Amino acid sequence: MRCPSCSHLESKVVDSRPSEDGAAIRRRRECLACGHRFTTYERLGDNPLIIIKSDGSSEAYDRQKLMRGLLIACAKRPISPEQLSSLIDSIETELRNTSRNEIGSKDLGDMALVRLAKLDDVAYVRFASVYKDFQNVEEFAAALEGMN
Ligand SMILES: [Zn+2]
Repeated sequence: MRCPSCSHLESKVVDSRPSEDGAAIRRRRECLACGHRFTTYERLGDNPLIIIKSDGSSEAYDRQKLMRGLLIACAKRPISPEQLSSLIDSIETELRNTSRNEIGSKDLGDMALVRLAKLDDVAYVRFASVYKDFQNVEEFAAALEGMN
């Protein structure tokens, strides 16, 4: 959302509520650069999903990026790109059904992991090692045991 006052791209949402007809979300935003407050209307259904990263910054959800991560995790495993595509479809559907516009990168990783675990153990561990940000070896070992 570009600030109408100074064109800065980052703003925070200070209030959001459904519009009167329920087909959109009305958001009050505050520009992080100049503090200008403005209102946006976002249609439900075609909102870009925002990923909140662990350092607090955000970026637009990128299906291709998620797919790349999954393809790397599934290298040389008996999983087809079609299976990964439907895995991502399933995540996107769940997010749409809960009307979430924002999700933490770790939560998104978890949603992928739950689905990956059903497809392939090796791919699960590879993906987990990247996305779960394990604190220590014990935690990693516990996750491995949880797969059995
Ligand atoms: Zn501004």
